[in-house]
Amino acid sequence: MKIKSVKAHWVHIPIPHDRQHVSDFGRTLSFDGTLVRIDTECGLTGWGEAKAQVGGMAQNQALTLMINEEFAPLLKGEDPRDITRLWETLYNGTRAHYALREGRVFPVLGRRGITVSAISGVDCALWDILGKSLGVPVWRLLGGRRAEKMPAYASGGWAGPDKIGEQLLGYVKAGGFGAVKMRVGIMDGDPLHSARRVHAAREALGPAVGLMCDAHGTLSVAEAKRFCRLVEECNLAWFEEPDDRHSDRFRRERVDPARFPRSGRARRGRHHAAGFGDLRRHHRGDADLRACQRA
Ligand SMILES: [Mg+2]
Repeated sequence: MKIKSVKAHWVHIPIPHDRQHVSDFGRTLSFDGTLVRIDTECGLTGWGEAKAQVGGMAQNQALTLMINEEFAPLLKGEDPRDITRLWETLYNGTRAHYALREGRVFPVLGRRGITVSAISGVDCALWDILGKSLGVPVWRLLGGRRAEKMPAYASGGWAGPDKIGEQLLGYVKAGGFGAVKMRVGIMDGDPLHSARRVHAAREALGPAVGLMCDAHGTLSVAEAKRFCRLVEECNLAWFEEPDDRHSDRFRRERVDPARFPRSGRARRGRHHAAGFGDLRRHHRGDADLRACQRA
């Protein structure tokens, strides 16, 4: 089996003004993503998705250009089922042969950020082809299911203390969710105001609905610790991305992990993914496959 072509497409979908979301990332004017299509000579097609920025609103030229102009020539003619070898080729560039021979990395300068996002899009498409070639879903190739069902949570929660309960309960009612995640952080102005909103949310939800917070990495470590103390009684399932270092320093500063399990969704890059795996063993977390990589 050989790769015939690799083509990335920037998908840009404007959002009507009355449906635009405002957050610490600004007003979301459009939804943007990069779809990666890999065609093989035998007729199989794999699809992947790469992500340029948090929030879905971003220029995707650099991402599509990298895949179309830099990666596509390296992938054309290769066997798409050799996923590890191809991944190492994209990550290590001209030194990939060293990486494959020595079993350790010799990465290109762009070892994080948009380069890794571009590799993610290709990686997903290669796995899609492998699954289709074997007639099995990718989740089966990755080890199969661990459970018949998994709990899901609804994500949002931007309203002020007077409306946050109503907003989160709306998610519960609409989707039957047993847990909800709300935003806190820089847009609240002060951890005290964030804490007021969280207390209002917990009071409205009652003890049975799971509650998580996400600060999008906008707090200083001192602010994050202050916030944790203020919501100690709110029984948070986790506190996601408290500070810009995505939990590392926060963790080192010994905020009680039993009370404040952490997640780091925006972690990206090969070694950050490995660290994230370590984090998951101790706490909980989620990963965005469009912008992270194998551990
Ligand atoms: Mg997050």
